[in-house]
Order: sequence, then C-alpha cells, then structure tokens
Amino acid sequence: MAFVITSPCIDEKAADCVEACPVDCIMDAGETYLIDPNVCIDCGACEAVCPVSAIFQEDFVPDFDKHWIEKNRAFYEK
Ligand code: SF4
Repeated sequence: MAFVITSPCIDEKAADCVEACPVDCIMDAGETYLIDPNVCIDCGACEAVCPVSAIFQEDFVPDFDKHWIEKNRAFYEK
C-alpha cells in the first residue's frame, strides 16, 4: 500500500509534500510530483499538507484518477 499523487497536482506542484515526506520518496516527474510506492511508508504526512488535495491512499483514489496509481508506480520502474 502506498499514497498516490493524482491529477490536481498538474500545474500546481506546490511541493509541500516533498518537504513533509520522512523517507524522501516524492520526486519531480515533470508534469507533477510522483510517489515511489516501494519506498512510501504510508504515513500520510504528504496528504495532510497538499494544498490541492491531490494525494490519496491507494484504496481511496477517486475513480476518475485510478490510472494515477500505475502512473506513480511506472515512473520508478524506468
Ligand atoms: Fe512520504 Fe508518508 Fe506520503 Fe508515503 S505517505 S509519500 S512516506 S509522506
């Protein structure tokens, strides 16, 4: 289980989450930031500070943004 960054991050990229993450698993992926699901410890610190509510625990990603789960994962498999 991991937290996932979704579409509201596009054009926002406030980066508050990057500062908040205790394990440094949030990287700049160009259009948005993305979370490495293999490193995320599921603490929720990023979700609490995101000003546009772009971050969700995997199970709670809204249906229209479900493809962002794979998007976060795929970025770190390159
Ligand atoms: Fe980092 Fe915690 Fe957010 Fe995972 S849930 S990305 S460990 S701040």
